[in-house]
Amino acid sequence: MLKQRTSCYCAFCKTPRKVYKHKNLSYIEVLSLIFLGVLFTFVIYKSLDPRGLLIVGGLLIVGEIFTQVKWRSAMVCQNCGFDPILYLRDHELAGLKIKAFLEKRADSPAHLLRPPVILPKVKADTSLKPRATSQNLSLKV
Ligand SMILES: [Zn+2]
Repeated sequence: MLKQRTSCYCAFCKTPRKVYKHKNLSYIEVLSLIFLGVLFTFVIYKSLDPRGLLIVGGLLIVGEIFTQVKWRSAMVCQNCGFDPILYLRDHELAGLKIKAFLEKRADSPAHLLRPPVILPKVKADTSLKPRATSQNLSLKV
C-alpha cells in the first residue's frame, strides 16, 4: 500500500528501472499535509484560525508540485536518457536528447560501471524498394 515505486523496463535500452506509481498526491499524503497545516496553524495562531486555510492550501500546492516534479524527473532513464513523455510529443526531439545524453555519458566517470546501452536496431524499410517481378530471365535468351 505504501510502496511508491514500481519496477519496469526502459522502452529504449531495456534496462530494469523503477518509476513512481502516482503522478499526483495520494489520499494519505493529502490527509497528512492537511494535518500538518492544522498543526502549523495551532503553533502559529494558538487556535484554529481561518488564516490556517492559506497554510493548508500552500502546503497542498507545494506538495503537488513536488510530487509532479519528482514523477517527471524519474521518467527519464538514467542509463540512456530516454524520455517516454517527450517521445509521445516529439519523436525527433526525444532522439536528439538521447544522442546528447549518450555523448555526455561517454565522457562522464559516473557512468563507467553502468551496463552498456544496447541500442535498438533499425530495420530497413523494404516497402520502398521496387519489387522484382517473378520472371525467369534465363528462359528469355
Ligand atoms: Zn534506457
